[in-house]
Parts: sequence; structure tokens; C-alpha cells
Amino acid sequence: MCGIVGYIGKKKALPILINSLKTLEYRGYDSSGIAYMINNEIKIVKDVGKINVLENKINLEVNTYMGIGHTRWATHGGVTINNSHPHRVGNITLVHNGIIENYLELKNKLIDLDYKFIGETDSEVLCALIDYYYNKTENIIHTIEKVIKEIKGSYATAIIVDDDYDNIYVIRKDSPLIIGIGNDENFIASDVPAILGYTNKYILLNDYDIAKISNKEITVYNNGSIVKKDINEFEYENDVVSKQGYNHYMLKEIHEVSSLVRNNLVDNLRNIPDIKKYKNIYIVACGSAYHAGLIGKNMLEELINKPVYVEIASEFRYKKLFLDKEDLVIIISQSGETADTLASLRVAKEYGTTTLGIVNVFGSSIAREASIVVYTNALIEIAVATTKAFVMQLYTLGLIAIKNSNIRYSDVISNYRLLANQVDSILENNIYKEVAKLIYKEKDIFFLGRGIDYYIAMEGNLKLKEIAYIHSESYPAGELKHGTIALIEKDTPVISVITNNIIKDKILSNIKEVISRGAKSIIVATDDIKIDKSYYDILIQVPTNIDVLKPILAIIPLQLLAYEVALLNNCDIDKPRNLAKSVTVE
Ligand code: GLU
Repeated sequence: MCGIVGYIGKKKALPILINSLKTLEYRGYDSSGIAYMINNEIKIVKDVGKINVLENKINLEVNTYMGIGHTRWATHGGVTINNSHPHRVGNITLVHNGIIENYLELKNKLIDLDYKFIGETDSEVLCALIDYYYNKTENIIHTIEKVIKEIKGSYATAIIVDDDYDNIYVIRKDSPLIIGIGNDENFIASDVPAILGYTNKYILLNDYDIAKISNKEITVYNNGSIVKKDINEFEYENDVVSKQGYNHYMLKEIHEVSSLVRNNLVDNLRNIPDIKKYKNIYIVACGSAYHAGLIGKNMLEELINKPVYVEIASEFRYKKLFLDKEDLVIIISQSGETADTLASLRVAKEYGTTTLGIVNVFGSSIAREASIVVYTNALIEIAVATTKAFVMQLYTLGLIAIKNSNIRYSDVISNYRLLANQVDSILENNIYKEVAKLIYKEKDIFFLGRGIDYYIAMEGNLKLKEIAYIHSESYPAGELKHGTIALIEKDTPVISVITNNIIKDKILSNIKEVISRGAKSIIVATDDIKIDKSYYDILIQVPTNIDVLKPILAIIPLQLLAYEVALLNNCDIDKPRNLAKSVTVE
């Protein structure tokens, strides 16, 4: 979930490690640490809290040219110094992202072999296990091969072996890890931003790869043999990871939407697969991507006239499935590493089902393992709460729906051309601050919608919860009166989304029901919907467009509203509490 970095080369390592760790802060973490070699000894500095705490304990000018660093998002054991990484046992020092599922069994075995543990983590057990086999074999590659066979779970790990200071070793399974290639220097990182400032060349590791990294050479082993790796190059510049004058990445990223949709206009139908030929279509995802899936379901069902089933990945992977070779499973994930979503993809493949990954991060696990991949092209997203990547998921799903429908793209191209300016006009509206002032102190907020508008409401609701920490619930508008309306009292904010003219009268009746019980009504609606003043306290109007583009226009005000509410509540907007950007644990 969190971060791993590493450096080996000719430059002083500590400023690079600290800087790289900072670029991974957005992933969410609770402690951090580094290990480096000085005078032929390993030194470890670690602490709980922010990276600044760690930085204050370090002299960055120390003459060390190799090291590894970590930001921890605790899974096993409390947030304590002993549990934070790097861990060191015997001859082995390591940092680990992920979970070793059978750690207890291994720990008991190692305790019987006289190993002592100072913390509660699964990672310390991994460290001891490597040390145990290393003492027996004295060959680190053979050791790691043995260890890989014994551990279950997910891991990205960087390892330093005592007296072998010309190399760092890395392994991975189900947790992301890349190796950046420089001139007489190499970098290790769990995500691209950590190395963007240093190199644009990198290699991707597959599950069970073991890499030996020196300043000059990278050798990758898999299953006993050396494997050749392609060198990839990033297309984007380092400034995609700067805030460019905005106070928060989230705000910057929402503002990027207009240029993203403008630029994606060119050849955006390329690579869109034919999905009509499949018997059943499923969409599987988590969090916001799940909401994108629900919106996509609605678009696809309307335009290609087939049922589409949407499932939450953490449920899908463990339930009884009825998949076969003629079906399609669409897998949506910004990072392409979401653990449950990736596991669902693998489950679907076991049935021989075709998988289509809709992914933002190039070369990520889902991108590599799906039968077909369509990139959302949202560039790097730093804020933990997704905005632009979510919008680009909607954009991509809309294109898939259009391409597979009877609508010719040439007939709607003018609507696509309109979109960027329409987004600009939404961004220029300053009504969101005003609405935020009205609701930021509330304890409970409700979001309503019908049909596709309900799914948009679900995402608006999630945004508010995750960054502004306000309890909110989203409801299909017609369902509220079956219980939840009991919670509506004087001044309870109710935010409704209306983009669908056909059922607008139905949701307006539901809005009247809550107003009659004292609710404050806020409506986000496309400007083709005529609504009498008696239905709202505040109306946020957005321009209208064809159906597949309306969700994009309706969600941006809700993203901006969540942002303004979080701002008034002094929340840590880009790094909300308890959350991580790419959820690589189950
Ligand atoms: N499971 C390990 C721990 O709790 C690693 C967590 C992480 O990915 O940061 O320390």
C-alpha cells in the first residue's frame, strides 16, 4: 500500500532516498525508515509519523552511496518504532510492502530455531526466514528462491545482505515494484513518482522475479534462470508530480480534466474492443472504480442492449461464479494493482473468460495480465481520493459504449468537442464554496439520485466521506421512504443529482418529501432540466451533453464540493486519514 525506495550509485544516497520517499507520501503511511551502509556497517534510522520526523534524525550529507527506504501502512502490529521498517535480523536488512499470510506459522518455526523477535510484524518474520536460509546456503539467490516457495501472500521487498554492499536484492509478488535505470546508478521504487526526478528508464518485474541490482548492472532471475527484461521509458515529464501553484493535488487534478478530455479527443477510439460478441458482461472493481463500473453498466445497457453485471471485487473473488469462455469480465482500477481487483482478474482467467482491464498506470499488474487493456490516460494521479482518473474511467466506458452501439462516432464528435469547454465552465463557477459553508459543520448528509444519477450520487457521497470525514449516505431516491427518511430532520442537507429528464418528475417528488420534513435541498442538475425554485435551496447547474458524457459533468461539482468542505474542516485533503492510494492488501 505504501512505499519502498532504494538507491545504489555514485551520488549521496540519503537525499535521494528521502526525496523519493516524500514523492510516495500520497500513498498513505504511518511510519518511515531507511537503512544505509556506512563504514561497512548497516545503519537504520526509523520512526513513526511523517517523513519530516525521520529527516530530522538524519544527516543527509553522510557519505553513503547505497540504501533502502520505506513508508509503512501498518497491517500486522501497531504503529511503533519496532514494527516500522527497515527490519534487521542476523545478516539481513529489509523493507517490505504487503502481507505474509503464513507469518505466524513461520514465526513459531523460527522461534523454535532460537530466533527472537522485537516487534509483531510479518515483515520481521520474513527477514528472519531469509537470514535462516542464508546462513545455511550462503547464496542469497538460492536463499530467496527457497523463501519464495515457503511464504504465502503479497510482497515487494528490498534486501541488503551484510558484506555484499555492492548489491541490493529485490523480489515481488502482487505488490508493485519497479527498477529505475540511471547512468552508473539504479533506483528501486514501488511507484513511478519516486524515480521520475532521476531517470525516465525503468524495468518492470513480474511475480516471483528476483533482481540483483548494483550500480552498473541489473540481473533478474526467475525459477532458477536469468530472464531478459525490456527497458521502458516514461512519456511524461517530472512536472506532472508538482502542484503547479494549486494548494492541493486534488484541486490541480480536477482542473486537469479539461485538458485530458481535450487531448484524448485525437484517436481516442483506437484500441476500443468489440464487446458485443460476449455472452455475459461483468464489471468488477472496488471503491470509486466500482462506481465508475455502475455508471458504465448503465451506459452499456442503454447503448448495446445487453445486461451488464457489476460486482465489488472483494466479494466477487470469493463467491460462486457462473463464468465461461464466452463471457467478458471488465476490470477497472486506477493503479492496476488493487489487490482484490487483481485477484478477481485471475479468478476470471481460471474460467477461461476474456478479461478487459481499464487501467490508468502503464505496465501495472492488471494492465499486463488482462487479455485486453484500455488505458484511461489520466497521467499520474497523486491525491489519494481519485478525481481525474475516475472521470477518465467514465470517459473510457462511454467510448466503449458508443463504439459498440449503433451510434457512429462521427455523429457525436461535436459533442465530444464541446466537453472540455463545458468542464472549464464548471470549474469557473464559484458556487461550491458557498454550498460548502452551508454544510461543512453537519454530521449527516444524504445524496439522492435515480438510475445513473444514483451512481453519480454514490461517488459524490464517497468523496465527501473520504476527504471531509462527514458521515453521508447515498440512496436511490425512491428508496429513502422505506426507512431512512426517519433520519431527515430540520436542515439535514440532501444533495440530489438530476441529469435524466425522463425520470426527473419522480426524483422531484422524492425531493419534495424530504423538504416537507425540513431538509435543506441542494440539487446538481444539467441545464436542460427545468426545476421550479420550490425544490431547492441551492441549484448547481452544469451544461448538458449526450448521455454518456453527462456523468462527467455532474460528478465534477460533487468533487469540488467535497474539496471545499474538507478545506473548511482543515482536513489533510491529499492524504486523508487511514487511506492509501493503491490498495494492495485485501
Ligand atoms: N505487513 C507489513 C507491516 O505491517 C508491511 C505493511 C506495508 O505494506 O507497509 O509492517
